Amino acid sequence: MHEVTAGASGKVASRLELSAGALAANVATLRKLSADTGGPRALGAVLKGNAYGHGLTQMLPLVHPLVDVLYFITPGDALMVRALEQARGLERKQVLVLGATDAEEAVALARAGVEVVVGDGSWRETVEELRRAKLEHPLRVHVHVDTGLGREGFTPGQIAGGELDFLREASDVLRVVGALSHFANTEDVTEQTYAESQLDIFEGGLMALRASVPVQEPLQRHMAASAATLVLPRARFDAQRVGISLYGLWPSSETRLSARLVLGRVPELRPVLSWRCPSQVVKWLPAGSYVGYGCTYRCPEATRVAVLPVGYFDGYARLMSGKAHVLVNGRRCPVLGRVMMNHIIVDVTRATHDERPLTATLIGKDGDEHLHVENLADWAQTIHYEMTTRLGAHLRRVVVP
Ligand SMILES: *Cc1c(COP(=O)(O)O)cnc(C)c1O
Repeated sequence: MHEVTAGASGKVASRLELSAGALAANVATLRKLSADTGGPRALGAVLKGNAYGHGLTQMLPLVHPLVDVLYFITPGDALMVRALEQARGLERKQVLVLGATDAEEAVALARAGVEVVVGDGSWRETVEELRRAKLEHPLRVHVHVDTGLGREGFTPGQIAGGELDFLREASDVLRVVGALSHFANTEDVTEQTYAESQLDIFEGGLMALRASVPVQEPLQRHMAASAATLVLPRARFDAQRVGISLYGLWPSSETRLSARLVLGRVPELRPVLSWRCPSQVVKWLPAGSYVGYGCTYRCPEATRVAVLPVGYFDGYARLMSGKAHVLVNGRRCPVLGRVMMNHIIVDVTRATHDERPLTATLIGKDGDEHLHVENLADWAQTIHYEMTTRLGAHLRRVVVP
């Protein structure tokens, strides 16, 4: 049987390079920041969305030794951690599923010692399933307090009003070990007034929680994602859930600006990810030639082009057509015409002297030039979170120093 590969494969395929050194440097930077305002706190890595598109399979072994907690959305991803620990004889780390969990998954997570978030009333029905499973240890849960994001969680009023009372009668199978919330706009602003109000509401939620449900002290309180970790010391609590900054990307330009104001300096974050693509062919097109679907580009003069086997299937957004460029030999080369499903065509007239194969950098450094994920996100009219998360799961990912 032939192995079926969805994308281009072999030597002529693009690859993502993941820098282990950049990752370690980012973790050190984030830990240092936190220690500066009285630690020690737990530093946790958010690995949802295929590790923000970087590749969970490749990132998990790199991240595991560096952090204290691992956060996921889906139970299946969280269970990968236990499999890895068993296979490699690693110490067991705290693992928390932030997303929705059905009853069957809850049983599997309890058995694996993975913790979960109680963020809605569906847990009432799960209690019976957990009892039937005759667990050795109760499932460890964190209560999500909705402080103003309007997503999952209970408001302090709902907690005080008895919506979590079912936890009191379920202490044989559910043990409350933590409480969390999530900010709504920390990365969108430099004035954190809404976040401050969310913090006040969280404090109220903690009081209501302790008054209505038996909790295991010290309760692990956590609210800060990257932006709050970087610029809102009051939000750091007992654990920090860092996603985007772990990968060496700033949550936003507002957060970077805030860091300068709040910390008096901008900590260095090093992008973990680079994207490189070898050419499929390099050739001359005569003056007047059209390039790509829709004939949207016409060469004004004889042009040396490189055809690169990468396209919107791989996560190189079609919206970048007519705007994007790539780096070849340290020079910016415009993408000509439309981005296709599996191809782009770039102008390399000034970047090379001949038609030999070349390697283009789509994200990352080449010589003195640097293409940031944020540049691609701007061209694609989105944010860098979406840009990296949409990188195809099929792309080859290699760890580099
Ligand atoms: C995604 C997410 C984070 C991480 O956010 P970043 O901005 O990437 O650091 C933290 N907590 C929750 C609940 C999340 O959904």
